[in-house]
Amino acid sequence: MLIDSHCHIDGERFDEDRDEVVQRAKDAGVAMMLNIGTGDPHSDDFRRAVAVAERYENVYCSVGVHPHDAKLYDDKAEEHLIELVKSSKKVIAWGEIGLDFHYDHSPRDVQIEVFRRQIKTARELDLPIIIHSREANDETVEILQDECNYEEFRGGIMHCFGGTLDMVKQLVPLGFLISFAGNVTFKNADKLREVAEILQLNRMLVETDCPFLTPEPLRGRRNEPAFVVHTASFLAEYCEIELSAFADQTTQNFLNFFKLKLPAD
Ligand SMILES: [Zn+2]
Ligand SMILES: [Zn+2]
Repeated sequence: MLIDSHCHIDGERFDEDRDEVVQRAKDAGVAMMLNIGTGDPHSDDFRRAVAVAERYENVYCSVGVHPHDAKLYDDKAEEHLIELVKSSKKVIAWGEIGLDFHYDHSPRDVQIEVFRRQIKTARELDLPIIIHSREANDETVEILQDECNYEEFRGGIMHCFGGTLDMVKQLVPLGFLISFAGNVTFKNADKLREVAEILQLNRMLVETDCPFLTPEPLRGRRNEPAFVVHTASFLAEYCEIELSAFADQTTQNFLNFFKLKLPAD
């Protein structure tokens, strides 16, 4: 059993075949998926993410404004997202939030302000957070150390991890899990693989971030949750662990973190 800790199957690239995608995941041994809501918080984008989680027993979801869209965050956006959290038991996290200094779709100072604000909101709602950090690792760690260092913090997930061992060492004590996506299978990802090899298995998750980042050997195709198996088997082999043990442990990490149980069938 595996869990895809970060996917975007509510997006329109899955409108044609979402039922089949969810079924293929199940058939491939992916027992659960966390669908990350993204988009414009003044539109129906986040309602769509929650609707997908409501539709499938083994799909959960999160809401939170991506750093790309930080400039759209305001009181009204926040009210809308809080309402969605309260509307469904399937909303189990706030995110993805963070900093993206690669694309800079929102001004950096706005990204930082909105990131801090959303961590506080998640704290008030007693929700764990999902972090997106690209080319902003130092700033991300600084903010997390500032905002997450308190007793009742529910922890977080560093999604599509692309940082260093040093970063891991600073985040794990705060209660963060580290999630690896398909890019860990790419040729140029030696540094990332070294981090995975050293990271304790009980802090690790795997994800697809689909429809993006399709793992080898399927690179070039649309990614989907079933393909998390390729990332998991690649990492298990690299770390010299049996795939079944790797799958069991990462699944257990996810279930423990969110206090969830696998669906019965
Ligand atoms: Zn992301
Ligand atoms: Zn994502």
